[in-house]
Amino acid sequence: MKIREVQADHYVVPLPVALSDSTHGTIRGFELITARVRDAEGAEGVGYTYTVGAGGAAVLALLTRDLAPLLVGRDAECIEEIWQAMWWALHYGGRGGAQGLAMSAIDIALWDLRARRQRAPLWRVLGGFDPRVPCYAGGIDLDFPLDALLRQSDDHRRRGFRAIKMKVGRPSLREDVERVRAMRAHLGADFPLMVDANMRWTVDEAIRAARALAELSPVWLEEPTIPDDVPGHVRIVREGGLPIAAGENLHTLHEFRALVAAGGVTFPEPDATNCGGVTVFMKVCHLAEAFNLPVTSHGAHDLTVHLLAAAPNRSYLEAHGFGLDRFIAEPLRVEAGFAIAPERPGHGIELDWKGLDLLRAAR
Ligand SMILES: [Mg+2]
Repeated sequence: MKIREVQADHYVVPLPVALSDSTHGTIRGFELITARVRDAEGAEGVGYTYTVGAGGAAVLALLTRDLAPLLVGRDAECIEEIWQAMWWALHYGGRGGAQGLAMSAIDIALWDLRARRQRAPLWRVLGGFDPRVPCYAGGIDLDFPLDALLRQSDDHRRRGFRAIKMKVGRPSLREDVERVRAMRAHLGADFPLMVDANMRWTVDEAIRAARALAELSPVWLEEPTIPDDVPGHVRIVREGGLPIAAGENLHTLHEFRALVAAGGVTFPEPDATNCGGVTVFMKVCHLAEAFNLPVTSHGAHDLTVHLLAAAPNRSYLEAHGFGLDRFIAEPLRVEAGFAIAPERPGHGIELDWKGLDLLRAAR
């Protein structure tokens, strides 16, 4: 079925909690960039990507000026062929980054369109493993006072979560250790607790932190340092003594291959909205499987629940706190620690376009 039209849009969605740090300043919203691909019979697939705060205009320009004309008239079923055409059309200005984000939005829309045309949920179209995916609650809580952090964890448990991730990377390691110790005491010895440093440390700082946190048994330490430092990750795995999750800022399959093959990651963590879409996310799952590694995910949980429901080596799905739920007709269902991949056709995400347009108009 030929592609007739590609529509791309850009929205700024307020975050539930403003993010601030010395590097980025204060970030109050994330940019949501959507891509709708329609075929000659009027069937539609929806994809999206996002940035935290800035850079989305470049993604929108790539979608509207470069990718939309490239796609019109192509066979929507030939997703790999389209993926290659997008990659080679944009590689001079890309090989990841804004190119990867724009391609991801299109690729997600194409997979949604394919599954909708088959009247099947995406997780079944991708191979179908188990619709019940272990899930954790991720918060934007580095700046929370301790009592608010503990209260948030109570709220997560009331909502059905049985695993929680907290941020680390406070100005002093002692503070981080005290906060994780308080969470461990609050949640109990066996409760799965992850910690995420969002790249704040040097390699040596990360090794020191991993050793200090080890007695508190986190499931993993996430993004201890910048994603580009593969040998640094290998040192952190070997010398820090904790399982390491990383990958939300890796933008190509080849970057994942380099980190995985070097032994620099325990839980590869792709984000389908920036690694090249469903196509590359599933290749990362298979790459991890070949290395006998569990795969986790970053962001976009309503979409990603389908992808991990199709991956036998999946570990936990991240349920993120970005706040897109209020624009989705039926947000992710979480029951007793599991996210349930829906049986609706496609990825099943029905965005509230009117609400998003109102949000745009209000700016
Ligand atoms: Mg993270």
